[in-house]
Amino acid sequence: MTKAAIIGSGIGGIATGIRLAVKGYDVTVFEANTSFGGKMHQFDLQGYRFDAGPSLFTLPHLVDELFTLAGRTPSDYFTYTRLDPITHYFWPDGSKLKAYADPDAFATEAEQQLGVPAKDVREVLAKSARLYDGTADTFLHKSLHKADTYLSADVLKAFGCLPDLGLTTTMHGANARLFNDPRFVQLLDRFATYNGSDPYQAPGTLNLIPHLEHNIGAFYPKGGIYSIAASLVKLAEELGVTFRYSERVERIITQNGKTTGIETSAGRYSTGVVVSNMDVVPTYRRLLPDQPAPERTLQQPRSSSALIYYWGIAREFPELHLHNIFFSGDYKKEFEHIFRHKTISPDPTVYVNITSKLEKEDAPAGCENWFVMVNVPHHQGQDWEQLIHSTRTAVTNKLSRMLQTELADAITCEQVLDPLLIEQQTSSYAGALYGSSSNNRMAAFLRHPNFSSKIKGLYFCGGSVHPGGGIPLCLLSASIVDSLVPTVTPAKNLKQH
Ligand code: FAD
Repeated sequence: MTKAAIIGSGIGGIATGIRLAVKGYDVTVFEANTSFGGKMHQFDLQGYRFDAGPSLFTLPHLVDELFTLAGRTPSDYFTYTRLDPITHYFWPDGSKLKAYADPDAFATEAEQQLGVPAKDVREVLAKSARLYDGTADTFLHKSLHKADTYLSADVLKAFGCLPDLGLTTTMHGANARLFNDPRFVQLLDRFATYNGSDPYQAPGTLNLIPHLEHNIGAFYPKGGIYSIAASLVKLAEELGVTFRYSERVERIITQNGKTTGIETSAGRYSTGVVVSNMDVVPTYRRLLPDQPAPERTLQQPRSSSALIYYWGIAREFPELHLHNIFFSGDYKKEFEHIFRHKTISPDPTVYVNITSKLEKEDAPAGCENWFVMVNVPHHQGQDWEQLIHSTRTAVTNKLSRMLQTELADAITCEQVLDPLLIEQQTSSYAGALYGSSSNNRMAAFLRHPNFSSKIKGLYFCGGSVHPGGGIPLCLLSASIVDSLVPTVTPAKNLKQH
């Protein structure tokens, strides 16, 4: 059987492993950490369970598709429910809004709580759907770096959308043109953070993101986000994929412009296909030091990162749900702090995710597991110890004020994740959450392709390459790699387990 080596067991690496195993490859996934998942891992802290990284799950059919591809029934491995409401929003002026899953109910709520015309809300969601439907097939589902992509009917559809694409305005500019209420504009602008961008710089095209959450839906997987990775690893192992943990890949070996193997902390392995799920910057810098690197691509500005306080909270807050957002008073200033001054606003927008609202066993009785996140710059030499300290004070003061309680008294235990740790734990360059940022209107074309044009047999998946970061796009990167890797043998006769 033809061998394939995958470097990293992030969600992109696991999905690629499944796809290549189905294709007939003998797949080994090499993982530097002691377990799988990369950013999608979990941990326990004094009786509380936490998903360490992602918390919002959209486009679940991309996970289901992997089980179906392997001839399995997805619900035998993995189940999820549609959230309603999706998010509870809080503003500093005391206004609140529940983002209901049904677009009409959401529009009515926006009218009642913020005075925003419901018909304008319905129209902005319909516009987001048109943007997504017109562009996703070209920009997300295929390689942008293969001629075939430009010869398909989907490209004509994407060109048909050009006037609506918002390439000549920023996300914020497009939203502020449609709505007078700064709070609703802030709610729409927030979707820029879903790929680590700045709504005041990112092109209006990113206004397709609300469609995923508000029209298609936001979901919660039973057992938490970690269960996505865990159920896919179970499937991969059933398909014969080998996972080698605590085995860091140190070199990709090439000969005459082709991959011939890899060298790890434990030895050498020969293989004709290598897929890097490691961030593309260290892939070139550390694993291919003698090869010319695509400097223009590698030097693209990185996305934002995150500072997370995982708190055990010794009481319950009935006014909160799974996803909660506490907005800053000045969003523009907040993004200037992140992207221009490379620091954290003293009044950051705070996201609080509480899985114990849906899974009681994630926290002791009468308590809640709070994942408290603020958007921060990627690492550029900042003093994180000082920032962790000052931001903790800002966050506890803000939440205490907005929830009318003394929050610090309720925190029973704490763990913190900052950009340096994110880089240390996953090799994500500068701790960026989503690879390069999408602040530039050409950003989609400047992401690294899913293959090397210089080294035959070398492919790339995961959040630092095309089509981008976040769970759904990492899964799509695996699907694109699948379409590029040659078929070797007739697909295995997959048995139902
Ligand atoms: P990664 O998760 O980056 O994993 C890469 C793996 O490769 C790691 O396990 C690493 O150890 C391994 N590796 C690296 N180098 C080597 C080597 N040399 N040898 C062997 N192994 C190696 N996305 C969403 O969709 N929704 C969210 O709500 C969301 N929130 C987020 C919040 C946080 C705090 C973070 C950190 C991320 C969030 N994301 C979210 C983004 C999402 O988690 C990532 O885009 C996605 O999980 C990245 O997957 P990946 O395939 O790129 O691999």
